[in-house]
Amino acid sequence: MQQYRNLILGFVLIITLMTGLGGFSLYHLNNISKDVDNIYNHPFAVSNAGQSIQTLVFAMHRDMKDVVLVKDPDQLKATLEQVHRQEQQVLKQFDIIFERFLGNKVTIKQAYQTFIEWKPIRDEVAQLALAGDTEKAAEITRAKGAQHVDQLLSEVHEFVLFAQNKANQFHKQSSKNRDHSLSVVATIGFLTIVISLLIAIKVTRLILNSNKALSQREHLIDQNIMLANLDQQGVIIDASNALCRFLDTTKEELVGKQSNFFDNSDSHSMLSEQIWKTIKTGKTWQGEIRHINEDGLMHWANSRILPNINERYEITGFTNLLQDSTSKKLSITDKLTTLPNRRSFEDVLEREIKLSYRHGTAIALAILDVDFFKLYNDTYGHPQGDKALRDVANCIIGCLRRPSDFAFRIGGEEFAIIITEQDAAKAQAFLDRIREEVEALHIPHEKSTVSEYVTISIGAYWSAGNQISDKNELYTEADKALYLAKNNRNELVVHNHQSYLKTA
Ligand code: GH3
Ligand code: MG
Ligand code: MG
Repeated sequence: MQQYRNLILGFVLIITLMTGLGGFSLYHLNNISKDVDNIYNHPFAVSNAGQSIQTLVFAMHRDMKDVVLVKDPDQLKATLEQVHRQEQQVLKQFDIIFERFLGNKVTIKQAYQTFIEWKPIRDEVAQLALAGDTEKAAEITRAKGAQHVDQLLSEVHEFVLFAQNKANQFHKQSSKNRDHSLSVVATIGFLTIVISLLIAIKVTRLILNSNKALSQREHLIDQNIMLANLDQQGVIIDASNALCRFLDTTKEELVGKQSNFFDNSDSHSMLSEQIWKTIKTGKTWQGEIRHINEDGLMHWANSRILPNINERYEITGFTNLLQDSTSKKLSITDKLTTLPNRRSFEDVLEREIKLSYRHGTAIALAILDVDFFKLYNDTYGHPQGDKALRDVANCIIGCLRRPSDFAFRIGGEEFAIIITEQDAAKAQAFLDRIREEVEALHIPHEKSTVSEYVTISIGAYWSAGNQISDKNELYTEADKALYLAKNNRNELVVHNHQSYLKTA
């Protein structure tokens, strides 16, 4: 957060500097233009006007010399008129100077006065010339006239010089202003570039760091979370390495293949059907999957399959999240038959009996024991005995239809079944069917005295609810029924809280 605050501060600083730079440049541009205006309007105008006066005065003085020499009265008159016109122009130039001159106006007034005072001298010369006294006129022009013109020119020269000095002064000032502006603009520009560079470095670092953090997170997820992206048909698009390890395969082998939601157990097609029914409606499926790896070992995982929905609420694919539950499962699972073991049986029985007692719902516990199994082992060998136990277990699993029925291997050749919310007759029929199905497996057992095949005896206790609250009591009652069933073997005995019912 602090980093972002610094970045914002940096941006604000840059914007302030840029605005300052712009404002400052405008201010100085305006000053420079004012300096140019000043030079043009004042010293230049005055200097130009002064130089014009000098030229005009020269011309007038020269014309006055001509007045003395001209014999023709018309020409004399024309020359005097020209002098008059020049005089008018000089007066105009004086007007300009009076208006624009920035120095002490006394010098101007003095020059002006001198110019005005030249008029009576010129008039006298003109009178004498008109009267034909050219000698006297020439003498006045040479002496008094010339002297007056010299004084006038020197006075004009003085303020022309002043104006030129003033122009130099303005020029120097404007150069100074320009240098100052340039240094300020260069400093602000430099600062802006430095701050921009710092911000660029900071932003790059931030992006690199967040990319690094993102990669680290991705790596952590990839290594620790079992995750797969599936397309609309359930084909694998991508899978995390954690999932690859769980499945004992590589990403390359997985991508492009049908996932079957990573269950490859016997019941995978049934499970897939159930999963599709849920996820195709846009709901999340949650449950357990079983995966048998190449080494033949069974692995379990809790799986969540979430539909990916686009902005038009269409399903674009699925995200499958899995959590390895193998070790937990193994602690409650019997290795030989993959049925839940005795420990699991104790937990489930305790839970179900409490529920039955609380809700007053029926519960039945059945204990199933393989008949003459010691003889079976003795006849066919222990490994064959193991196979027979697995077949019996699978047969029991195959008979379970309701999610409220549970089967366990609780001892060597002993199994247990918990049936809830079934009346006594249904429970009895269900258990007897299991007994029949086991015999129907036709696993030969030549030493059995009750059948040609492997058979089981079942003892069960059925309670309508609120009758038994203790699991040991329920177990003891079921065991008693089994004891009775063992009298004949390949028999079912159910104690329905009142009497023992036999079916065989
Ligand atoms: P009953 O009809 O009275 O039940 O006789 P039974 O021989 O089945 O009963 P008993 O308790 O005398 O013998 C049980 C036998 O089950 C003994 C044991 O060798 C066998 N057994 C127990 N666990 C296993 C196992 O995991 N694998 C194999 N192959 N045999 C087992
Ligand atoms: Mg036994
Ligand atoms: Mg037995």
